[in-house]
Amino acid sequence: MEEDSQNEQANLENTSLCKYCKQGINTGSIVCHHCGKDQRLFIGTIQFIISSTALVMVVIAGFQTYLAYTQLQDTKRKEEAADKALVQIGSIQKQMLGILADTKASREKIKDQEKLIQAAIQKISLGLCESACNNDPPTAIIGVQN
Ligand SMILES: [Zn+2]
Repeated sequence: MEEDSQNEQANLENTSLCKYCKQGINTGSIVCHHCGKDQRLFIGTIQFIISSTALVMVVIAGFQTYLAYTQLQDTKRKEEAADKALVQIGSIQKQMLGILADTKASREKIKDQEKLIQAAIQKISLGLCESACNNDPPTAIIGVQN
């Protein structure tokens, strides 16, 4: 009985609590056999720094991903607007080509009209000359006939 209590006492002296899971481990143990965590303070600190840094990096990466996604959406929107503008420019170009073709056709018509007018003027001139040469009355000049 006395031996048992001595053993117990020894066990208690040789036992300490894990810093993480608070279960009994042998004093001087480097690693807890319950949770597997390192009991050395500086290792714990380093692990904490590494995991904090990793967390911060994950947050930064997440934020950068969000920014990249936003920029991608913005670029897509701009691309769509540019495409729409291109389509509009295309239709305006078509309209302008149509107007240009109409203008050319009108110019041709005007040229034809000019030719007709010139021919008429020539005829009138010839008529005038003839009347003048034949000493016809001036009414012939303005086309008034008896
Ligand atoms: Zn533990």
